[in-house]
Amino acid sequence: MNPGVPASTSDPADLTIAGAGAAMRRGDLAAVELLGAVLARAAVTEAHIHAYLTLDRTGAGEAAAAADRRFATGQPLGPLDGIPIALKDNLCTRGVETTCSSQVLAGYVPPYDATAVARMRAAGAVIVGKTNLDEFAMGSSTENSGFGPSRNPWDTHRVPGGSSGGAAAAVAVGSALGGYGSDTGGSVRQPAALCGLVGMKPTYGMVSRYGLIAFASSLDQIGPLARTVGDAVDLLEAVAGFDPCDATSIRGQVPAMRRSLDAGVDGLRIGVVEELTGDGVAPAVSNAFRGTLDDLAAAGAEIVDVSLPTAPQAISVYYLIAPAECSANLARFDGVRYGLRVDAATTEEMMAATRAQGFGPEVIRRVLLGTYALSAGYYDAFYGQAQKVRTLMRDDFAAAYRLADVLVSPTSPTTAFELGERTADPLTMYYSDVCTIPCNLTGDPAISVPTGLDDDGLPISFQVMAPALGEEMLFRVAAAVERLSRFEARPTLATSQVPSP
Ligand code: GLN
Repeated sequence: MNPGVPASTSDPADLTIAGAGAAMRRGDLAAVELLGAVLARAAVTEAHIHAYLTLDRTGAGEAAAAADRRFATGQPLGPLDGIPIALKDNLCTRGVETTCSSQVLAGYVPPYDATAVARMRAAGAVIVGKTNLDEFAMGSSTENSGFGPSRNPWDTHRVPGGSSGGAAAAVAVGSALGGYGSDTGGSVRQPAALCGLVGMKPTYGMVSRYGLIAFASSLDQIGPLARTVGDAVDLLEAVAGFDPCDATSIRGQVPAMRRSLDAGVDGLRIGVVEELTGDGVAPAVSNAFRGTLDDLAAAGAEIVDVSLPTAPQAISVYYLIAPAECSANLARFDGVRYGLRVDAATTEEMMAATRAQGFGPEVIRRVLLGTYALSAGYYDAFYGQAQKVRTLMRDDFAAAYRLADVLVSPTSPTTAFELGERTADPLTMYYSDVCTIPCNLTGDPAISVPTGLDDDGLPISFQVMAPALGEEMLFRVAAAVERLSRFEARPTLATSQVPSP
């Protein structure tokens, strides 16, 4: 049980997606009214948390009105119809500025929707706006944003996590009911963990990356942020499935995701990853993690210890592969086609000046690292070696899944840290993702579920990992963790009448 503030359902902004959808289908709530509640919440909280870069009041209002016309005829489109959602600003939205929180893309208005965005719209979702992130999704705190950091609604002196920190802060505070981020090394799961939400990274290839501005293409996946596991399923189902525009999109049926949500964990083998549960995990996080394991055991699961010997190398491998891929992906931001152009005497000087001025320090650090790792003479020693360890890591996971149905760890080794606490030392910041990065390297799905609060009243989370395309099992265990933990606390900022500063 948690000592936090109890959830309130008197304000529609505090409803779950399932709850709001049911109220709209009953005719007790209009989509425009729900949007009004969410925008009113944003009007009070944005000055404190800066979750959004752009609020699309007009587009959202039109989408909500269209949803109400469908509800009036008794023909809603599905679970997301009329639901206000927050979108990380690295997902292209037709006609709405998309910046990746970078000065290099300031003012860029895409002429097309990402496939995932087109699917959300087709499902009736109401896109409230575009949310803040670490520039090009490189970071774990949103402090690397080119437009100023977001703050954690549980404690505004602390970070909401990153890189999808704006979307997480918005869903936590009630300026959206659900959201979508991208997860390259943990950027959906870690901010979910720090903001007391469910955050999920699907199997690589399940959600199309077309229109997701690329960071590291072999790792990037779009994933949902939600207040409940069931809501995360609804968000994922709306966007999952084959897309011919993404060459890495998985063909064939999307796995069943909702079918086993109530099946419980009786008889399942739950593997505790030795390397992700020891050193560096804060005592409160570790205690909560052990408490959840006890609950799962009491519910009939068999808890087994497993080892992933290559897991301690995950950060080193990731910080070769991700920068290598980003150095290639970000070559397109050269002042010729998109966003910023800093004029200079020659084309070459124009490109250099545009990139020097447009990119922030972390992006420049990664492009330099990646270019170095890919350069002739170093390629085999760095990039090639990292790829080999990546293969060994897949073998480690395959061996572990012979002993366990799912693997578990804390999502983040600590609760939300203070703004500025880790900015001076990139390696400390990189360590924030020690538990989440392995599943990006293997491509397997993983989910973060909030289980409690620490002594400072900050959320603590539990990560469940499953084999590729094992979403049904993943959501089954996550739903069990959710029921056993009964986490219902809400951030103070969402529940108090905070005056605008
Ligand atoms: N924090 C990690 C990084 O900075 C992961 C980011 C992400 O998942 N987009 O690269």
